[in-house]
Amino acid sequence: QTALTAAGAEKKSIVILGSGWGAASMLKDLDTSLYNVTVVSPRNYFLFTPLLPSAPTGTIETRSIVEPIRSIAKRTPAEVTYIEADATDVDVTKNTLKIKFPESDAESKGLLKEIKYDYLVVAVGAQPSTFNIPGVAEHACFLKELPDAIQVRKRLLECVEKASLYPEGSEERKRLLHFVVVGGGPTGVEFAGELKDYVDEDLNKWMPSIAKEVQVTLIEALPNVLNSFSKSLWTYAQNTFAENSIELILNTAVNKVTPTTITASTKKKDGSVEQKEIPYGMLVWAAGIRPANFTNHLISKIEAQAGARRGLLVDENLRVKGTENVYAIGDCAFTGHPPTGQVAHQEGHYLASTFAKMAAIDDLQSELARASNSDERTKVQARLDAALSQIKPFKYNHLGSLSYVGGEKAVADLVWGSFSSTSTGGAFTYLIWRSSYIAMCISARMRALVAADWLKVSLLGRDLTND
Ligand code: FAD
Ligand code: NAD
Repeated sequence: QTALTAAGAEKKSIVILGSGWGAASMLKDLDTSLYNVTVVSPRNYFLFTPLLPSAPTGTIETRSIVEPIRSIAKRTPAEVTYIEADATDVDVTKNTLKIKFPESDAESKGLLKEIKYDYLVVAVGAQPSTFNIPGVAEHACFLKELPDAIQVRKRLLECVEKASLYPEGSEERKRLLHFVVVGGGPTGVEFAGELKDYVDEDLNKWMPSIAKEVQVTLIEALPNVLNSFSKSLWTYAQNTFAENSIELILNTAVNKVTPTTITASTKKKDGSVEQKEIPYGMLVWAAGIRPANFTNHLISKIEAQAGARRGLLVDENLRVKGTENVYAIGDCAFTGHPPTGQVAHQEGHYLASTFAKMAAIDDLQSELARASNSDERTKVQARLDAALSQIKPFKYNHLGSLSYVGGEKAVADLVWGSFSSTSTGGAFTYLIWRSSYIAMCISARMRALVAADWLKVSLLGRDLTND
């Protein structure tokens, strides 16, 4: 990293926390020659989450949907420092950040480090919400990060192998082969669809007697699934589930989980509530997200953030309220937009271009300070005013939503410019889903790997190995 900008001013430093949608999009578009840029994240790769529900069943290989953060950094104009660590604390008055390295004894080795920053960009994402429901954290699998997908796969195949030891039709075999997904948002719907495809197309080939006893169930607290999509698509998704024999239990909230049973209460039409106990073999919890612990810690330290519940409150330029030089993007920021990769991506892109404009403003300010006469000062001031007016508020441009629903069908709310939108579902929408996700992949390498995985599965099927 060099210390000076092209205009001869001292370079400011930007520290970016995270390597997900927000951070990676910002880094990809940032002119890193204008700042000293450091990325801090415990994960040294970007994860393409839209295809994460395809990973546990092997439709997509886990290695195909990751991109090393160093490879993204390498494609920027100047050197970027990456530090594999967790941000643990920020002093917004002293502009310092505390980080913790992954080793548990790092602190005692004196590795707990403090980093100074001029600008801090918080893009630490969110974490799965268990709502403190007893037993969820201990017994459920999640689908948020790459290791989660590997754990789901292990659990799934463990259930299959164990079940094969019990006689056909036995209660224990039935329990082990009951795969339950909780949460009818897009994560739960996509995974339930992928899981049923795997059972019908692959498990059925290798272990037909097991496959015919597998039951995939999705439990949703609200009266419909995919509530953020158009109404017509709720019905389409629900009908597709019925065609594919995925059981849908609606109006039902899970309130307790043990290693073998789920307790849930169903709100009935007459207003009464019925308690159910559901035996299960594998439970995948996809019931939404909540702010990360680091985000809550930061909120608690800034007075202007009092009352923030769903993320850091930011102004129209994505600056954290109550700070001068801390920004927040993606799922950790509360902007009124949904917590999606699409939003985080656009926010990252916006900050990259805003920081380029801010660097130009800094240069003009130092030019103004050096101006020797009033004529020169007036000219520089006019350029500075023009540059300042270039910093516009963040504006989200919704491009549509897509979700796989299983059986080679997908649903989509497509937006055509600012004037029209279409809701569509079916096999053709599945092709739109596939081409959109290929287009959204962060690199040519990822695009090639994902396309190759799809081709491989269509020719050779998925496997049954648990590693
Ligand atoms: P993330 O992408 O989660 O990244 C957070 C980063 O911060 C990670 O690198 C993490 O390691 C790092 N981090 C965490 N804690 C710290 C810390 N203390 N210090 C430093 N770094 C830290 N959205 C869509 O628009 N379309 C989709 O199709 C879609 N599909 C999805 C499928 C699944 C299964 C899931 C779970 C989500 C999906 N989403 C989708 C939502 C999307 O993934 C999120 O909205 C998006 O990832 C948010 O981006 P982010 O940068 O805020 O957080
Ligand atoms: P979500 O918040 O969208 O859905 C969670 C669902 O779980 C809700 O419908 C909620 O009613 C239900 N739920 C909560 N507690 C429950 C309980 N105790 N019992 C039964 N049901 C319960 O969560 P998600 O699907 O993980 O999505 C998170 C974010 O990521 C959303 O913004 C979503 O749009 C985005 N995402 C998008 C895509 C896509 O566009 N294809 C895919 C995955 C995620």
